[in-house]
Amino acid sequence: VSDLTFRSDITLQLDDWMGDDAKVIRMAKASIKKTGGDMEEAARMGFINFLMRERHGVPFEHCAITFYFEVPIFVMRQLAKHRISSISEASGRYVELEPVFYLANSQRPMVQIGKAGAYQFERGTYQQFQGYRFATEATSKRAWAYYRDLLDEGVARELARSVLPVNVYTSGYITVNLRSLMNLLSLRTAEEGAVIQGHPQYEIELLAQEMERVFACRFPLVHTAFLRNGRVAP
Ligand SMILES: Cc1cc2nc3c(=O)[nH]c(=O)nc-3n(C[C@H](O)[C@H](O)[C@H](O)COP(=O)(O)OP(=O)(O)OC[C@H]3O[C@@H](n4cnc5c(N)ncnc54)[C@H](O)[C@@H]3O)c2cc1C
Repeated sequence: VSDLTFRSDITLQLDDWMGDDAKVIRMAKASIKKTGGDMEEAARMGFINFLMRERHGVPFEHCAITFYFEVPIFVMRQLAKHRISSISEASGRYVELEPVFYLANSQRPMVQIGKAGAYQFERGTYQQFQGYRFATEATSKRAWAYYRDLLDEGVARELARSVLPVNVYTSGYITVNLRSLMNLLSLRTAEEGAVIQGHPQYEIELLAQEMERVFACRFPLVHTAFLRNGRVAP
């Protein structure tokens, strides 16, 4: 099979967003019938930091970001666990899947040291990586050939897809409000300075890191307050 693509990256793009730092302040100031529109930069930073520190989370829910993503199915499953979000994913029933498969590169830590709940990952040996690569390529190629055969024999896409492995890519959009996004980031990144250390899988951390870059760019004061308060979602 020559038409397979193997990727070791994920795609995450900003599609759309709603609100800005000022909107968070405006929603919070609703309680005293003010907007906060006259506040100086330092006062705005201080106020958002106060909201974050005291965990007044609702004002952050009025802002949201929509991301476009392309990820392997095993990452999609982790992403979909974040229930406070809206996800629209490509259908495997209505369209044929594409022969695009995840194959980690040799930089990806692949050996788990320690037990569940207290472990870390280290680089594998050359032999381990070659074994992983061979198995992944062989399985993906074989599975894709079966998928194509089943479609050619008239089997419905919705059933034929069940022969494909979880490293096949899917795509879609996810919209998350800022409060939920900060919860996601705290769980799916392992950054220094976090009050609670995250233990994300490498691949979803790549996704979360890209999300955080967009978040920091569009909501710089909220992001700064998130960092100052130990990456705890309000
Ligand atoms: C390192 C790691 C390992 C994991 N391992 C597993 C695993 O082995 N198996 C597995 O199934 N999942 C696993 N998960 C997923 C995890 O259990 C959560 O489903 C996922 O992280 C989403 O978190 P969340 O519920 O806070 O987010 P969301 O679903 O987005 O919810 C956001 C917040 O809303 C509130 N909320 C949402 N729904 C409810 C509700 N029904 N009742 C009360 N409050 C609610 C909570 O405050 C929650 O924190 C793992 C996650 C991580 C980070």
